[in-house]
Amino acid sequence: MDRQFDLVIIGSGPAGMAAAIYAGRAGLSCAMIEAEAPGGKLVKTYEIANYPGIAEINGAELAMQMYEHSTAYHCESLFDTVLKVEDGELKKITCLSGDVYYAKAVIVATGTKERLLNIPNEKELTGRGVSYCAVCDGAFYRNKTVTVIGGGNSALEEALYLTQFVSKLYIVIRRDVFRADSVVVDKVEANEKIEIIRKAIPVRINEKDGKVGSIVLKNVDTNEEFEVETSGIFPYIGADPCTEMLEGLDVLDAHGYILTDENMSTKVPGIYGAGDCCKKVLRQVVTAVNDGAIAAQSAFHYINK
Ligand code: NAP
Repeated sequence: MDRQFDLVIIGSGPAGMAAAIYAGRAGLSCAMIEAEAPGGKLVKTYEIANYPGIAEINGAELAMQMYEHSTAYHCESLFDTVLKVEDGELKKITCLSGDVYYAKAVIVATGTKERLLNIPNEKELTGRGVSYCAVCDGAFYRNKTVTVIGGGNSALEEALYLTQFVSKLYIVIRRDVFRADSVVVDKVEANEKIEIIRKAIPVRINEKDGKVGSIVLKNVDTNEEFEVETSGIFPYIGADPCTEMLEGLDVLDAHGYILTDENMSTKVPGIYGAGDCCKKVLRQVVTAVNDGAIAAQSAFHYINK
């Protein structure tokens, strides 16, 4: 099926949804294409406490409110995986289903995907003790021991969330300092259920009765390996941009992030980036919605030029 819009937004995280609100209110015919659940990483985040005006809100709840808002101005919400974006007088957007969309402008707001540990048994035990979503799976670990890998904001915030269920939680970091904000680090260090294992990296996961039984870690100074018994492993070691659909257009940096100017425009006129998938210094809900609003406004001016 071929359809045409003024604007196609790829991704419905905070950046894509903000773009949909601005595009819809500007009167553009618009579609927002999403491969998974609307909300992006928000849906997998327990608590948002730094979005101005909302002191504290559950991520999925904020996502739902944004989604209702983003579709209130007639931006059509479509579910598909975009495989390719091609330039032309009309941009061509090809999807996994075989559907093709044409648009005068495109905003790519596809976010990032979690990095894997890439160690033996990680893939085999995913869903059987290895999880990349504390909010989705945390309740399965009531009164059990779990291990969070990583020292960034995601790792520490999700670790704190998990402490309401588990009896014991290890956080494994490869340096002796965290990367996360000090306000979160202070909470982690004060939590009696949490034990921090510093200067260690994961080597392999051991299976027990078809599930995760333990994780083998290696001290980075001594190369000594040691085993930690654990029922759950939650890797939060960063993420990579979901921008494969732009690979033919020479708009990405060496790590796959979209390069944009202050109008969120790539060097291809009519193609914009917004949110975590762009090269930027701060990846937050508030900066994502900022990008989405600017990208939609820029697309509006481009289309009406
Ligand atoms: P991140 O900030 O890049 O942190 C990744 C963590 O994983 C670091 O501690 C890193 O160690 C560690 N790591 C990376 N590769 C590893 C490996 N192979 N083995 C073991 N450890 C490894 O990633 P993030 O926490 O997912 O956050 C991504 C972005 O979103 C950041 O900009 C973050 O600030 C933002 N964010 C913000 C909030 C918030 O403000 N509330 C919440 C979530 C995310 P090193 O430190 O040694 O490199």
